[in-house]
Amino acid sequence: MNLNLDYDRISYLLNPEQFKDIKITVIGLGSGGAPAVDHLTMNGFRNWDLYDHDILEPVNLVKHPRMRKDLGRLKVDIQKEWILDRNPDAKVNTYPENVLQSENFINSIKTSDLILSCPDLKIIREFISDKCVEHQKPFVTASVFRTGIGGEIYSYIPNETGCYRCLNLHLMNNNAFIPDDAFGLTDEEEEKIYGLGEKDFQASGLSVDIQTISLIQVRMAMSVLLRNFDTSIPKMNFNWIVYGIRPKKGIFNQHFDIRKFNLKPQKACNCSNK
Ligand SMILES: [Zn+2]
Repeated sequence: MNLNLDYDRISYLLNPEQFKDIKITVIGLGSGGAPAVDHLTMNGFRNWDLYDHDILEPVNLVKHPRMRKDLGRLKVDIQKEWILDRNPDAKVNTYPENVLQSENFINSIKTSDLILSCPDLKIIREFISDKCVEHQKPFVTASVFRTGIGGEIYSYIPNETGCYRCLNLHLMNNNAFIPDDAFGLTDEEEEKIYGLGEKDFQASGLSVDIQTISLIQVRMAMSVLLRNFDTSIPKMNFNWIVYGIRPKKGIFNQHFDIRKFNLKPQKACNCSNK
């Protein structure tokens, strides 16, 4: 039996042989990052540096696509196994490290064509953005708004679009920050915060809401990665998507409320002088 991934059914849409050398570094293999990597793998991307120091835990099973038998294992190891099962041709390097302290991370950025930024914390998204600006590498980042009401997908192409700090500058200059409490709390979160005193509790989204955002992230990543190839995936003329999944008063008026923007490098930002 031929073990290579057979692209026959999708070859009229794209030719993975064209981009077999493209390399992607991923930060975060949680309930958003893992399905994103799965889809990119099925679409023929096969060179990976994976960063995540977490293990799969029982509380992840309501959101994360991996199996119960994998509980207790490093998420990078589970993902590597999944990629190699799907495409034995793939090359996967795993780094169970926090990128803020990793000695390998800069080399991964330098040798990659795109950084897929899927961490939980904003401070890490900012760090990834700064390093991508420094080394002039594109990234695509995605985050899910509290309680999974929607999410945001944002890409950076050096000298073309603004970086993640540009996004914050833009939001501040336009008074467009949505305060956390505007998203409201679930009953569960209220109970956790007011009943049990767990101040750090983050209201998570449902698996379906998280994966909705990560699939848009994959789409945007493919359009950035393949922007110089002749495929059925044209380049997007925007780099920032705010996607409202369900209605919330004062934020999203309806289900599937999509807003798209093209954010240029902001003059006050470091990235515009590169
Ligand atoms: Zn910038």
